[in-house]
Amino acid sequence: MDIIYFDNAATTKIKTEVLNEMMPYFTKNYGNASSLYSIGRNAKRAIENSRRQVAELINCNPNEIYFTGSGSESDNTALKGYVYANKSKGNHIITSKIEHPAILETCKNLENKGFEISYINVDENGTIDLEELKKTIKPSTILISIMFANNEIGTIEPIEEISKIAKENNIIFHTDAVQALGNTKIDVQKMNIDMLSMSGHKINAPKGVGALYIKNDIKIERFIDGGHQEKNKRAGTENVASIVGMGKACEIANRNLEVHIRNLRRLRDYYIVRITKEMGDKIRINGSLENRLPGNANISFKGMDGSEIVYRLDEYNICVSSGSACSSKNTTSSHVLSAINVPEEFLTGAIRTTFGDNNTFEEINYLINCLKKIIKNNTN
Ligand SMILES: *Cc1c(COP(=O)(O)O)cnc(C)c1O
Repeated sequence: MDIIYFDNAATTKIKTEVLNEMMPYFTKNYGNASSLYSIGRNAKRAIENSRRQVAELINCNPNEIYFTGSGSESDNTALKGYVYANKSKGNHIITSKIEHPAILETCKNLENKGFEISYINVDENGTIDLEELKKTIKPSTILISIMFANNEIGTIEPIEEISKIAKENNIIFHTDAVQALGNTKIDVQKMNIDMLSMSGHKINAPKGVGALYIKNDIKIERFIDGGHQEKNKRAGTENVASIVGMGKACEIANRNLEVHIRNLRRLRDYYIVRITKEMGDKIRINGSLENRLPGNANISFKGMDGSEIVYRLDEYNICVSSGSACSSKNTTSSHVLSAINVPEEFLTGAIRTTFGDNNTFEEINYLINCLKKIIKNNTN
């Protein structure tokens, strides 16, 4: 039996079109993009083409896109790169309580280096408290970093309101858009975003490639010392094939955005309606269903252990996630579910399903039947 994959927020399968686009850069145009002969120049041209494709998806200038090795690297670079280059202006950074570890751990690191960090609360839907944000700003605040959409519960944050507050106070605004990219409309100009993190493997491109948008004129410290790649900011011979894959995935995402969103929402809503009908008394839906990524459902099963459900579903060839992939190895409950005040009896039994374009209603029916068996056996 084939694997039934409902974990697209953890990673996605590479699209055939993406892989086909990448192949020639392993087999034929394998030159170093800094070399002067034709296979080197071909690689260079391919990178610049990808830069344009990524830029088009978020509506920026291609020269504002820097390729990195992951979404985590983009987050690290945005935060550390900016505050190190601008520490004469202040040492205070504002973020939220529900960020991805790539942001939270970076902040912890910066705290140890003398920066002051404020972590803003969210409401029961996971939406950032804008009043608290305004009140937390002080003269030493140099950076606000709030995620575009949350990886566990899918909440889309009020990005334009946040950027407006940042602008009014002359503060740079970064957003981790790794989950949002290709799943909701992003326009960095209209939304007044200064820096934005992206990752390839969350949008059907390979693992190990990411991108960071940095608005022109923003001063940032060099990410990696060495050669002159990426406008002299990130040394290292470019990962040409993966960059090509990331560009292609962005082009496809841009072309299909509306159909893709509608498709995922239909699958997600079908799942929520059916599971509520069949198991309504044993579950809790975490986060609001408005302002949420179209493919995300996060449901807690009363008194259960999420990782136990994940293992049991795996026996039925179904892939889902308990909380976030990063915290699934330990039994500590999710910092996101705690931040939205999920009641105690629902805190450990959360299952995140994140749908992809190839999922079907039949697969969802099968998932619900398996869940019913697992929960029933457990309560007996
Ligand atoms: C996956 C993810 C990251 C990390 O991206 P990698 O490419 O896996 O390093 C960062 N932020 C969010 C919100 C994510 O979902």
